Amino acid sequence: MNNEAREVGYLTYDILKETVRLPAKERLAKGPVAIIECTEDIPCDPCVEACKSGAISKESLVTPPSIDYEKCTGCTLCIDLCPGLAIFVVNINYKEDKALVSIPYEMLPVPEKGDIVDALNRSGENIGQAEVIKTRKGKSGTHVISIAVDRKFAMETRSIKVKRKENEY
Ligand code: SF4
Ligand code: SF4
Repeated sequence: MNNEAREVGYLTYDILKETVRLPAKERLAKGPVAIIECTEDIPCDPCVEACKSGAISKESLVTPPSIDYEKCTGCTLCIDLCPGLAIFVVNINYKEDKALVSIPYEMLPVPEKGDIVDALNRSGENIGQAEVIKTRKGKSGTHVISIAVDRKFAMETRSIKVKRKENEY
């Protein structure tokens, strides 16, 4: 992990911006795009294999992945295949003032379409309410949850907290 992130205990957006080439505003405006928040030099490359558009590449097994944002279609297929839960897809212009953020999710209970959940930032802080728009269980067993959040939190929302329903334990 990036040394600064190790000291803080998590990856902040400022650290991310310094270590990863993020999509330009113009690319974000064009539609959904994957953002890879992987700053570890680790010998892992399921993300490269997952992307049938050839958007993700790695120079070597021990370098972090890089992404060609023009090739990415925002399909979300790489999200559940990343064992580091480090890939997110952001559609900044989902509707009106909302963005759609797709995240990996391995907790229980698994939310359902239409549920209102807490949107959490990278440090686990609650930054508002989000509506679950879509869920998909990936081949790995990891779910991909797509949530509508306030557009201003599109680059901050990276997890959710799901409230248990009555009769759940
Ligand atoms: S979202 Fe789809 S197209 Fe984009 S990098 Fe992931 S697998 Fe490739
Ligand atoms: S699969 Fe995930 S953890 Fe592994 S290199 Fe790709 S983004 Fe990083």
